[in-house]
Amino acid sequence: MIQRHPIKNFHDLDHVAEFLKIDFPGDMYRVEQAYPVLTNSYYLSLIDRNDPFNDPLFKQCLPHSDELLDYDASFDPLAEERQSVVSRLIHRYHDRAVMIATNRCASYCRFCFRKRFWKRGNEFSDITDTELEDICAYYRAHPELKEILVSGGDPLMLSEQRLKYILDRLAEIDSLEVIRLASRIPVFMPQKISDELVNMLSAYPCLWFATHFNHPHELTDDSREACRKLISAGIPIINQTVLLKGINDAPETLEELFRQLIRIKVKPHYLFHIDPVTGVRHFATGIEKGKEILRYCRPRLSSLATPAFAIDLPEGGGKVSIQENYYDGECYETIFSGKVKYPEQL
Ligand SMILES: *Cc1c(COP(=O)(O)O)cnc(C)c1O
Repeated sequence: MIQRHPIKNFHDLDHVAEFLKIDFPGDMYRVEQAYPVLTNSYYLSLIDRNDPFNDPLFKQCLPHSDELLDYDASFDPLAEERQSVVSRLIHRYHDRAVMIATNRCASYCRFCFRKRFWKRGNEFSDITDTELEDICAYYRAHPELKEILVSGGDPLMLSEQRLKYILDRLAEIDSLEVIRLASRIPVFMPQKISDELVNMLSAYPCLWFATHFNHPHELTDDSREACRKLISAGIPIINQTVLLKGINDAPETLEELFRQLIRIKVKPHYLFHIDPVTGVRHFATGIEKGKEILRYCRPRLSSLATPAFAIDLPEGGGKVSIQENYYDGECYETIFSGKVKYPEQL
């Protein structure tokens, strides 16, 4: 069923409790004092009412007392602030950089690696005209930069008019070839992907859409429809998933997610291990768990459906993908022993 009711946003636990008709333990309210709650009636409606506390979507959007355990660890282990070359631009790689268009989101992911943006004490802040002009000037001065990731927060929280203004300014940069718009709106509020919005986005020839499904339960008629609209308008969609303990770390769950994504032409792009950010460590599975999932998926899942498993190095070292080979050591024996001749050696 496509949801027709207007979506209600919930900014605190009391309203969520009322909506779900359950009581929350006191320690969830303590977490809310440090990291606020934001979610909505659409996403909450996907939660299993019979067992809400163990539900994979509940755990993504509602607090757990473990968020307070490592309150003094780093909020920025990837050194994004240090790599901000101009305000709101993180330049780490040769040919691409990340613009933080806003710190607003449709729903707060409890495992967010940019929790520093929305922990208690932050105001909402969108990119200003001056910041945008500075970023454009930086791109013009660095023509090796061919791609910009428009991220946040969630850039689709900006008004359509404001987003269009930003994209128009970016489109004027001659050396810029690709715009990658990163948004969880297809997951949290797919109804916002309106025909008008898609029409506006389709005007940019080099726009890719990166979204973030973590669990098969997030694939609904509404979210599929949002993806269908974007793809029909010629906008390719890639998906990144975060490997989350107790949420999607069963290999069968991810296999199902990746299979469902390619059926709607969304390419599983990355599976990320969680970063060592304050307030998210209880979601960490360990690298071995990710490798186990790769070993499970590789022989049974098409490469189309298989994302790269990656981890971000500390101090802004960048993403490193971790491989598990389909074959065991014997394949190296075959390749390197000289028994088989490859064309160059013939
Ligand atoms: C992830 C990321 C990118 C994009 O890297 P890809 O491997 O192309 O997805 C660019 N800049 C920063 C700072 C990033 O964290």
